[in-house]
Amino acid sequence: MRTKPNIIITGTPGVGKTTHCETLAASLGLTHLSINTIVKDRGCHDGWDEEYQSWIVDEDKLLDEIEEEVKLGGYIIDWHACDLFPKSWIDLVVVLRVNSTILYDRLKSRNYPELKLQENLDSEIMEVLLQEARDSYDEEIVVELTSNTSEEVDSNVARIEAWVAQWIKDNEGAEKEDS
Ligand code: ADP
Repeated sequence: MRTKPNIIITGTPGVGKTTHCETLAASLGLTHLSINTIVKDRGCHDGWDEEYQSWIVDEDKLLDEIEEEVKLGGYIIDWHACDLFPKSWIDLVVVLRVNSTILYDRLKSRNYPELKLQENLDSEIMEVLLQEARDSYDEEIVVELTSNTSEEVDSNVARIEAWVAQWIKDNEGAEKEDS
């Protein structure tokens, strides 16, 4: 049984996942698990997609790579998909959302290829990641938060910190009941 929760921070590229994960990891002492970095550094891919300028992820290899670590608890998973992670690993799924004009500006400044930029904007407008999260996990662990401004980052972080503190308290209680 985990003594610290595992959290997924998901959403369309550019919504602010990394910004949230880094802040939360520092304040809570949890580990920021950037799936992008793992895919790249541990070779969990079938090559590079030139058109999309991204790795073609080998999901089975990725899950094998992180399983032992993540099962210990205390990880904040940073990825623009969530349906690959087994339900039993995950305690909270945060789906970050952003206004499409703001997202356009953020992706434009990253020099995304036009096709990738448009597909990501469409995905945000169509709520693709929110739906994926709701289809993959129990509704009570899926939370939708907006991330248009830095004030919203601060309030989202405070909310997630409070949730983690409560989860740890509840979990300690459960452990005492077991013993
Ligand atoms: P993601 O990990 O979802 O791709 P990032 O955290 O890398 O997103 O954020 C993308 C860009 O937008 C970064 O330049 C970041 O500083 C900025 N940013 C992210 N969230 C916010 C926010 N809520 N308000 C203002 N700027 C933000």
